[in-house]
Amino acid sequence: MGCSTAYHLTKNGCQDVILLERAKLTCGTTWHSAAQVRQLRSTESLTRLVQKSVNLYSNLEKETGQATGWKETGSLSIANNQDRLTHIRRQASLSRAFGIGAEEITVKKAAEKWPLMRNDDLLGAVYSPSDGRVNPSDVCAALVKASKSRGLTVIEDTPVTGISTKNGWVTSIQTSKGEISCEKIVNCAGIWGRQVAGMAGVAAPLHACEHFYLLTEIINSINGPLPTLSDHDGHLYLRDEGGGLLIGCFEPKAKSLDLEKIPPDFAFELLPEDWSHIEPILTNAVYRVPELEKIGVKKLLNGPESFTPDDNFLLGESPELRGFYLGCGMCSVGIACGGGAGSALAEWVIEGEPSMDLWPVDIRRFAKVQNSIRTLRERSSETLSLHYAVSFPGRQYKTARNLRLSPLHSRLEKAGAVFSAQMGWERPWWFNPKGISTHPELSFEKPGWFFLHAQEHEAARKSVVLIDQSTFGKLIVQGRDAEKFLQRLCANDISSAHDRVVYSPMLNNHGGYESDLTIMCLDEDRFLLITGTGQPVRDHNWITRNIKPEEFVSVTDITGEYAVISVAGPNSRKLLNLASPDDFSNEGFSYFTHRNVEIGPGIVRAARLSYTGELGWELYVPSESAIPVFDTLNEYGSDLGLKLAGMEALRSLRIEKGFRAWGHEIGPYDTPFEAGMGFSVKLNKKVSFLGKEALVKQKKKGIKRSLVMLTAKDSEAHAHGGEPIWLNDKLAGHTTSGTFGHSVGCTVMMGYINCLDTKLEKTLSNGNFEVEIACRRFAAQASLEAPYDPKGVVLEK
Ligand SMILES: Cc1cc2nc3c(=O)[nH]c(=O)nc-3n(C[C@H](O)[C@H](O)[C@H](O)COP(=O)(O)OP(=O)(O)OC[C@H]3O[C@@H](n4cnc5c(N)ncnc54)[C@H](O)[C@@H]3O)c2cc1C
Repeated sequence: MGCSTAYHLTKNGCQDVILLERAKLTCGTTWHSAAQVRQLRSTESLTRLVQKSVNLYSNLEKETGQATGWKETGSLSIANNQDRLTHIRRQASLSRAFGIGAEEITVKKAAEKWPLMRNDDLLGAVYSPSDGRVNPSDVCAALVKASKSRGLTVIEDTPVTGISTKNGWVTSIQTSKGEISCEKIVNCAGIWGRQVAGMAGVAAPLHACEHFYLLTEIINSINGPLPTLSDHDGHLYLRDEGGGLLIGCFEPKAKSLDLEKIPPDFAFELLPEDWSHIEPILTNAVYRVPELEKIGVKKLLNGPESFTPDDNFLLGESPELRGFYLGCGMCSVGIACGGGAGSALAEWVIEGEPSMDLWPVDIRRFAKVQNSIRTLRERSSETLSLHYAVSFPGRQYKTARNLRLSPLHSRLEKAGAVFSAQMGWERPWWFNPKGISTHPELSFEKPGWFFLHAQEHEAARKSVVLIDQSTFGKLIVQGRDAEKFLQRLCANDISSAHDRVVYSPMLNNHGGYESDLTIMCLDEDRFLLITGTGQPVRDHNWITRNIKPEEFVSVTDITGEYAVISVAGPNSRKLLNLASPDDFSNEGFSYFTHRNVEIGPGIVRAARLSYTGELGWELYVPSESAIPVFDTLNEYGSDLGLKLAGMEALRSLRIEKGFRAWGHEIGPYDTPFEAGMGFSVKLNKKVSFLGKEALVKQKKKGIKRSLVMLTAKDSEAHAHGGEPIWLNDKLAGHTTSGTFGHSVGCTVMMGYINCLDTKLEKTLSNGNFEVEIACRRFAAQASLEAPYDPKGVVLEK
């Protein structure tokens, strides 16, 4: 990561770059990597990064004259059960959306590509011809050679020992040989990344694990390079190496590794062998390649590698310290992603942002609490163990849970909540009614608990539900310039926020979303900003870094101080009328307004809006009043068909209604016009706002891609987001969200299609749309309107 970042920094004109290395370059994890470069991933960001790596590695020798060991051997993924087949087919579909060209092939063809492989149990396979492998030390040598010719200084045998800061910015770095003044530091310290970040008071949630592969003696029947074979359910991958096989693994019970167990001068070293640990994997390997029974093992290699709480690495500028960047915690894809990730990181350093949406690896997706050593130790071994697991929608980790609990947690647990986690928070996923005990069994199709969230969904549409949304991020922006400042940052006009709730995008210079929030003015110069559960660190960071020195504004994250109880459904008004002396009529409390009200014994701020797409209110309740208010609502709701609802029901409610979600429909490279959210942009407001110039230009030129709603009637079309969209037999884009819409009775998706706005209407009415799910195309109906209540009739009654 250090070499790749230095290469891209110097390539982009930075001439004063120093690469500091504790011992010798590559001596940490890189030198002993198995170094597969496999482009089939489960997210767009990772797929694109590996694609960039492939481009880099395959051209580096031409550029530098230094061999990199790049071999385009292809990769082969096999499936011996239906879920795995769906998993690899979904990856092949995703890769197709980005021009990688992976294809499903028959078992017979797979066997021809890998003659040593047992194949009588296989259901199918996917072959990705442009994947390959490198020699990782040679890649680094080539990157450094090119960088040195452009001005890079490499200083080896020089550990970083400290980091100095002033006014929230990096000022210098201390080393064993002295201090270097600098404005920017990029932390690419691998398994030591958390330690180095700690020198600057910065969180870098990663932890080392022991990571294994073994090398066999020569196998005479191997002649020539084999594609890398991934037998995910055997927890292993295999490829030729030195005339024998390299067999690597992601074992189901991995071992985390405390850094104290590694000597400070650990370089080009390995960890002790552990044969009993690797035994079950060997058994799986012999099953898959029976010839191994007769072949000896030359070496068992155990090396350290870092893993993060969600199996995605850490990239970007730290939210705690300006000028301090992270490129570490590579989760065993540091070679595959290293080329692309280093390129993105260099852009981040030079331009202040990468040129693509990298939210899944952005360091700001974590809360501070996720950086505790106990949490990381527990979680990292599970992360490694699940690296090859089927990527079922909604998969949850079992370790390091219950880090952040809503004030209502005990009540929700008692009511049968099954929890899912985000940013350390536990959130009700769905509720098990008395006598029913479903558990998070997962599926690409309809899981066993499908009927339960269907009932919650129905209650939201037909009676009334309570949804605990306490995990929403809550920021207070205050100070005498707060309003002026927010007007500058928000694309909507917030001057009406005193009594109205204002929904607004916050945009970057190129008109893309940095966030979308609801804003309420609480007092003169004091605003409450409500944002998504995963967004408060990012938003806090974005808002504070945009305050000008002359602006008198402060930002405080008060997420934990308030619970949020959403009351939604046609009976929500009746319920609030029973629980409160205040006026909730349409005239007395109109759509998108807010004010303080009494609910039972509590005084809460109520805002009339609901992410369910139904009549509803969000109640912002001081944490200490959360239980009394919740109990009151439950008590009065019993005669109104009240149900508790969880996140899965909310997801299908919001998708059916066409409500966009951060990280899905909107991100830094989606503009409000493209997202169909032009209503939330006020180009004519008096104060100019960030991103306006780009939007004005875009409006003039017209847009080339648009978010559309799609529905598919086929009962086998199980969409979850990331599926290619075909238009008249040509790839046109991919979906961003997908679910079963219980009210409309079919699969509902959102996604972007590439299409000039001038042709959009005609295309939508005449085009032949299909969505590709796990290599199978399903007919779809496309529209700009949401399938449920497109005119918002039920909202404003
Ligand atoms: C067994 C095994 C198999 C693998 N197979 C693959 C694979 O097939 N494909 C793939 O993509 N990835 C694979 N990986 C993972 C991949 O090798 C790593 O993700 C990658 O090498 C990490 O690179 P890095 O630059 O982040 O870390 P490192 O290579 O560890 O580099 C970090 C550097 O920082 C230096 N450093 C640390 N502290 C300091 C300090 N205080 N001051 C100065 N310097 C410091 C260290 O000395 C080290 O050289 C594998 C890993 C293992 C262990």
